[in-house]
Amino acid sequence: MNDSSILIIEDNPLNVELASDLLQASGYRIHSTRTAEEGIRLARELLPDLVLMDISLPGMDGLCATRALKSDPATSHLTVVGLTAHAMMGDEGSALQSGCDGYLTKPIDTRTFVSTITKFIKSSSHET
Ligand code: MN
Repeated sequence: MNDSSILIIEDNPLNVELASDLLQASGYRIHSTRTAEEGIRLARELLPDLVLMDISLPGMDGLCATRALKSDPATSHLTVVGLTAHAMMGDEGSALQSGCDGYLTKPIDTRTFVSTITKFIKSSSHET
C-alpha cells in the first residue's frame, strides 16, 4: 500500500490537476497550493515525502522557496523536485543549484511521471 504524501506547489491549475490525478491513481496523498509562501508553510506543517516545486511562480519563485526549505533544519531533509518549463533554458541548472534533488520538465509526460516520482521517493528513503 502506498501511503506517501506529496505537496504540489504550482500555479498552473491544469498541471496541478494532471499531476494530482496521476499520483492519486497510484495511491499518493496530495496537497497542493499555488504560491511559494503557502507551500513553505504547508511543507513545515505536513512534512511530505516529496515536494513538487514549480520553478516559475508568481511572487516568490520556486528557486527561492527551495532555498528556504533547504536552509531550514525543519524541512532541509525533504525531497524537492523542481518542475521546469522545457522552453526555459537554464532552469534545470538553477533548480539543482538552489537545492532541488532533481527536476522534471513540463509538459508532464503522463507515461513516466508517476514512476519518476516514485523513484525520487525511494532513492531518498532511509527505510529501504
Ligand atoms: Mn508556474
